[in-house]
Amino acid sequence: MKESCLKQTNQKAIDIANRAIDDVKTGIKKKLNAIWLETSGCFGEVISLLDSEEPDVIYMLKRFVNMQFFGSIMADEGEIAYERLLELLNDEFVFIICGAVPTKDNGLYTTIATYKGKKVTTMEVIKNLAAKAKYIVTIGTCASFGGPTAAKPNESEAFSISKFLNREDVINIPGCPANPVWVMGILGYLTSIGIPKLDNEGRPIDYYGETIHDRCPRRRFFDAGIFAEKFGEEECMFMIGCKGPVTYAYCPVSRWNGTENWPIGDNTTCIGCASPNFPDSMEPFVKYGGENV
Ligand code: SF4
Repeated sequence: MKESCLKQTNQKAIDIANRAIDDVKTGIKKKLNAIWLETSGCFGEVISLLDSEEPDVIYMLKRFVNMQFFGSIMADEGEIAYERLLELLNDEFVFIICGAVPTKDNGLYTTIATYKGKKVTTMEVIKNLAAKAKYIVTIGTCASFGGPTAAKPNESEAFSISKFLNREDVINIPGCPANPVWVMGILGYLTSIGIPKLDNEGRPIDYYGETIHDRCPRRRFFDAGIFAEKFGEEECMFMIGCKGPVTYAYCPVSRWNGTENWPIGDNTTCIGCASPNFPDSMEPFVKYGGENV
């Protein structure tokens, strides 16, 4: 795959982020107020975002986003943090959520604060904030589609954000984790232009318009019918369980760590982590020597 092709999706995201920075600088647009809420998940989205170096997402975001509430990195905690959250509801804001929403026992399995002696569930907070938000953006497969948090047997009765809210206008950025470049691109787009073109799963076409298989560097082996039999071989991994043909995401183009790494590049199969039915319908992740692992 040519270098220009490898970089094009990232460049699109960087370009729109730079446009957002310019629009804010020149006063054409206002900085986007943002509230980032974490509910039930692994926090991989936050780690992915904070680890990004090229571009430095935090630097870029600060230039066009007012991140006003972000549980993992803010200094406030407990009642003070919750009060701060309540104060923010009067302004226009984009509501960013990672994690799914556990609903069993009235959501008691995921709380964000104890306020005036009462446990505050993310179920309650998400309902309140979503009703006031200008845009709702989900980051990661748990928030977008339920993901591992809502996988069978789903003991906490967790749902994706759109299912929980019963809304179709949620912008979904799935992935386990979602690529931080895509997150930055969407926030830049919302700042400068508005809602990007989405597919019927609420995913921006710019980052989820094709399958992994469409852009995979091993595709020539697939087309020639040459398949790896075990990990570490350079051929197409379809016969050992790769889910690239049914997974929509620009991972082969965006990659991670400054476009260096991604699963297939590191000799592991795509496990379909950005798909609506991940993980239940993507298992087994590996078929090894004819056996399901
Ligand atoms: S490794 Fe996976 S994504 Fe790549 S060509 Fe083979 S089946 Fe398709």
